[in-house]
Amino acid sequence: MGEKLIHEVIPVGLLQCNCSILGDPVTREAIVVDPGDDVERILEILRELGLKVRAIVSTHTHIDHVGGLAALHQATSAPVLIHEDDLELYNHLDTQASWLGVPTPAKTRIDEFLKEGDILRWGPFAANVLHTPGHTPGSISLYFDARAKKADGHAADSGDRRMDSRQIAQPVVLAGDTLFQASIGRTDLWGGSLDQILKSIHEKLLPLPEQTIVYPGHGPETTIGFERENNPFLR
Ligand SMILES: [Zn+2]
Ligand SMILES: [Zn+2]
Repeated sequence: MGEKLIHEVIPVGLLQCNCSILGDPVTREAIVVDPGDDVERILEILRELGLKVRAIVSTHTHIDHVGGLAALHQATSAPVLIHEDDLELYNHLDTQASWLGVPTPAKTRIDEFLKEGDILRWGPFAANVLHTPGHTPGSISLYFDARAKKADGHAADSGDRRMDSRQIAQPVVLAGDTLFQASIGRTDLWGGSLDQILKSIHEKLLPLPEQTIVYPGHGPETTIGFERENNPFLR
């Protein structure tokens, strides 16, 4: 077996948002998803693992998923990426902070917008951006399948064992606050829509392979197969 994708899930902040560090064990390139808070701890883990951050992504711009963007960007200089439909929500971070009764975190410039079909790369790995609105208008999910890609974007040639060795055992989706273990994201906050979140889950997430591991924005991981069978909100 070759060297595997590094995936650290760190619950951060008051609301215990699952921040993901995804790293390539060979090039040491990484992306960080949903650094909502506790940036010192995230940086410490990055240092321990010897990873260099290539991009910082938020699945949506609720405060618990974006609170650490500015500090992490300042420490790493990595570009900050969100979906454009969540920019307005990000611009109202102060309102979100006052709802929670916490100080407003520093804001940062958004360097690039992600949209449906975009591909995020680190080392030989590549995640597909799925636009999954409903919890917020600009909610996204990140899906990556079992095999590391070569830098040109084609699947690694099976004849080249060395290139082929960096594999993920199972496909993974980071679902933000769209899909949870036996639950779905709330739709009663600004820009939320129950119709949209159900459409997003049915059309974009449930068709993924059943063995796909789902890492929600909060709480324990699950699989697409389990949610298809057991999620009471999806019947
Ligand atoms: Zn949220
Ligand atoms: Zn959240």
